[in-house]
Amino acid sequence: MLKIVGAFFVCLWCADFLTGFFHWLEDTYCLEHYPLIGGFICEPNIEHHVDTQLMVRTGTFFSRNMLQWGMAASIFGLLVICGWANVYTFVTLLLTSFGNEVHRWNHMHKTSPLVTFMKDLGVIQAHRQHSMHHKPPHTGYYCVLTSQVNAVLERISFWRSLEKLIAVTTGIAPKRESRRDAVTVKAKS
Ligand SMILES: [Zn+2]
Ligand SMILES: [Zn+2]
Repeated sequence: MLKIVGAFFVCLWCADFLTGFFHWLEDTYCLEHYPLIGGFICEPNIEHHVDTQLMVRTGTFFSRNMLQWGMAASIFGLLVICGWANVYTFVTLLLTSFGNEVHRWNHMHKTSPLVTFMKDLGVIQAHRQHSMHHKPPHTGYYCVLTSQVNAVLERISFWRSLEKLIAVTTGIAPKRESRRDAVTVKAKS
């Protein structure tokens, strides 16, 4: 039993890291005018940073999560083709695909008693921690499933180190200035 609980938490933390990785990619490098992903991924991401309540007010359970489900299913399909699929990768991707829904719970003023209970248990991210992401300088706490992975990554400046490594090896710098402009324009419109 202890082994199953331990395996579940390892999958949960791996899933949380994946939510943080994709969120960091969007927040750091994603611009609205990019082909294909610009309108589909970058624009909703920028909108969330302008109006954090938009995801609470609009959409359905399906529309909010279909992108994540599609991505998780595609990655799992690739793992199956490569022969790397197993119960752990399945659970990790399944949990990752619900990251946006957990994220939404952290922007709701009122949630169900079950969600509150899971927050109190520490199984899902505390509201206070996600609110840190929406405070200046807006450059941390990207993971949205739990509070534990962010705590470790922030302590070791993981995202800043990764950005430096990418800048040194590829010459690609974070697009924060351009994104800040986009956020300002949207906030005024
Ligand atoms: Zn963000
Ligand atoms: Zn948020």
